[in-house]
Amino acid sequence: MEAEGIDLSTEQLAANLAAVRDRMAEACARVRRDPDDVTLVAVTKSVSMDVIRKLVSLGQLELGESRVQQLADRAHGLAGSMPASAPRPRWHMVGHLQRNKVKQCLDAAQVVHSVDSLRLAEEISARAEKTGEPVECLLEVNCSNEEQKMGVAVGAAMHLADQISTLKGIHLVGLMTMAPLVEDPEEARFAFGRLRELFEEMLGDKVGGKSFRHLSMGMSNDFEVAIEEGATMVRIGSALFA
Ligand SMILES: *Cc1c(COP(=O)(O)O)cnc(C)c1O
Repeated sequence: MEAEGIDLSTEQLAANLAAVRDRMAEACARVRRDPDDVTLVAVTKSVSMDVIRKLVSLGQLELGESRVQQLADRAHGLAGSMPASAPRPRWHMVGHLQRNKVKQCLDAAQVVHSVDSLRLAEEISARAEKTGEPVECLLEVNCSNEEQKMGVAVGAAMHLADQISTLKGIHLVGLMTMAPLVEDPEEARFAFGRLRELFEEMLGDKVGGKSFRHLSMGMSNDFEVAIEEGATMVRIGSALFA
């Protein structure tokens, strides 16, 4: 069963990918960062399966979804429809994850960006320990103090990261945040800066170990500002698929 979604020609998609990569590289250049240090995660929630196959054929292998059911459908659908010799994409779960969906999520995703409680982390770890494959996770932090937002409060993040790092089924690879929805991306800069400061504080306190090195921040509207503030993973949907 193919989910509905936006369709694009391979040429258009290649042009959009190149344009986003150029903008990423320019943002890196402004702050003297190596563009290879920033990973583009293509968030495919709005596109058809056909576009996802085209992304993979264009070498875009880091793919993200925000809902477990759709992630599972697409990851399994893709695996079933690509030749065995084709390169394998990595699926990132970027949206809120409920504990009762952890098994379904881990059957399809390799990276979870949205861990925001010890109970969720424990569930992920327990599942991962059964398969013997630790799961790469990021701790989602609410850097903008908005009431409705997902993510652990900045003040509680250090302690939670410390607890999660002790779980055997999880590799805590970094921090993630969703910026406030603002018109001018400059207004989101403080949230990205805050996540980076928190990350540096954690590094200073030796939280996480060697694999703790990612800042997942920045979406279509604000990825350049996020890169200037230190993002190592940007999660981009609409800018790729217009
Ligand atoms: C949809 C989504 C994105 C991508 O958003 P765009 O604005 O389309 O780039 C990134 N992160 C999360 C968590 C999302 O749900």
